Amino acid sequence: MRFEISHVLDAIEARLTLDPALARAVVDLAEVVRLVDLDGNDSKPATLLRLGRVLDALGQYLAEDGVAIYVVADRSVLSDLDLTSNERMVVRRWADDGLVEVLPDPADRVLSVAELLGVPVVSRRGFTEYAQQYRWLPRGLLAPTPAGMVPAAEGLPGPAAAPVLVRLWQCPESACAGFGAPAGGQPPPQLQAAVPTCPRHGTRLRDAGPQPPARVFAVRVDGAVRGRFVVREASPVVIGRAPSPAATGTVVELGPLLGDEALRWISRNHLWLELRGQALVVTDTSTNGTTIRTPAGPAQLGPGQAYGMGNDDVVELFQGVELGRPNRFQGGAARPASVMGEAPTISLRMPR
Ligand SMILES: [Zn+2]
Repeated sequence: MRFEISHVLDAIEARLTLDPALARAVVDLAEVVRLVDLDGNDSKPATLLRLGRVLDALGQYLAEDGVAIYVVADRSVLSDLDLTSNERMVVRRWADDGLVEVLPDPADRVLSVAELLGVPVVSRRGFTEYAQQYRWLPRGLLAPTPAGMVPAAEGLPGPAAAPVLVRLWQCPESACAGFGAPAGGQPPPQLQAAVPTCPRHGTRLRDAGPQPPARVFAVRVDGAVRGRFVVREASPVVIGRAPSPAATGTVVELGPLLGDEALRWISRNHLWLELRGQALVVTDTSTNGTTIRTPAGPAQLGPGQAYGMGNDDVVELFQGVELGRPNRFQGGAARPASVMGEAPTISLRMPR
């Protein structure tokens, strides 16, 4: 299989998130880069490309494309001479950009993030030394193998019990990548004896007010979920064939996923979604309009019209091109596209 390593690393980078609303699993980078049997490449004791294998296996396990992961890396990765100098530089940049966490001895952090988010840990370790602290173990562990993900036991970590995720937190270190400027989507704090603490600086975090409301959406094209995005208060999301770069908020570009007919029908900036308090409003900005499928039947939205969405409503930009809450579309991508082959996925541009 031929591929450009830089393109694969770009594809992997697009799947990295520390946003609790989007992460589907927690991954210990230092472990997975050394799982030689994932690609059988004995000449490479460590390579970042194995993170791509893990993403592919997770996508197949969840039957969903474009799944995002929360990566925690042991600081030793930055000086691991089994990685190429380019790979070490890439991890450092990911950390600087707030896409991964780099910490000394991160095993406890991996488990605590999984617990707070209620998502599995991708690992072959049993974490038996943590069994008293994290009572859900070994449930919630997914072992990556060449044949796919193998759950250690049925069931996921329990739902987030601590109220820390409903607050915003601020680190006294103003240059802190995770907690310097409190905003929706910040990573979960580390709990040290129940005190919210910066995982990077070890400092006590200041309560910076409530988290802004957020709603997660899935994009489904021809029956397969191709990605997710989150809408937060005061941060509208523009969705379309090729949206123009927005000054604020997230942009979801659907173009790479669409067939010819859908490409002709769907506008560059087709619609936007925003949260006004707890109300989710869709506003059509297209040429051809939008259909809202509601439990009471379909409603047509003409150009310029706005509509307050119910939880079960589905937005249809063109036949088979849909946006809705993830629980409306369970999986569906029987063979998710591989990140190793530059497969098209939705392109998300986040404000930085
Ligand atoms: Zn900090």
